[in-house]
Amino acid sequence: MVTSVTDDAKPLNTYVVMGGTFDPVHAGHIKSARQLAEVMDYSCIHMMPCGDAYHKQGVTNAEHRLAMLSLALEQEARLAVDARETLRDGATFTVETLKQLRQELGANAHICWVIGTDTARSIRTWYHWQKVFELANVIVIDRGADALDMSETQDWPATAIKDKTIFKQQAKGCFIQLALEPVEVSSTEIRDALYKQESVGDHVPQPVMNYIEQHGLYRGKN
Ligand code: ATP
Repeated sequence: MVTSVTDDAKPLNTYVVMGGTFDPVHAGHIKSARQLAEVMDYSCIHMMPCGDAYHKQGVTNAEHRLAMLSLALEQEARLAVDARETLRDGATFTVETLKQLRQELGANAHICWVIGTDTARSIRTWYHWQKVFELANVIVIDRGADALDMSETQDWPATAIKDKTIFKQQAKGCFIQLALEPVEVSSTEIRDALYKQESVGDHVPQPVMNYIEQHGLYRGKN
């Protein structure tokens, strides 16, 4: 059920998560999260690296991915690392994380899972994907001119909302699409460039590049 905004509507306890592999973290993640905090007026976006990425092959170990993300966010006022998925054994399932957050924050909290449009298009492959909407809202970020059209979300058990204020009053069961300024880069491109010993420009923060060099990451694989 969608709640309408009333004059006495109080801000809800809020927790916004951008989950990902972050192998490695790059400017697309960081700039999107910054813009999201800005346009939605969220005080914090929690960046959450997955532990065992069951859906991807040959992923760098969680300890390195977590260390790189922590370095990238050191100077970011509104972005924080949430390491909980890297501390769990076994495959990382978003619904399990959301169950835990819902228990911690209570039934009324505004909990959001942030995904790019590419991830949104594959959401049906997630373990118990429909339950995501029973536990949280979803924020879909356009990566360039690739917004989802209505036909792509018609089987989502969720209400589409356009108004940001109304969205922020919802505990769960809703989604909003946001067109942010695109940053055309992916971790795959970064890994490919590093493998070929090509420059990654300013797509990877310098402390993260230093870490990659120190630990010899992405040299022998792409
Ligand atoms: P890979 O290339 O290894 O698949 P990726 O660059 O897509 O990785 P992930 O860590 O898998 O990065 O992504 C985490 C989340 O960030 C996903 O929801 C993804 O859609 C989103 N994302 C990744 N890159 C960008 C970008 N350039 N702009 C906006 N969102 C992004």
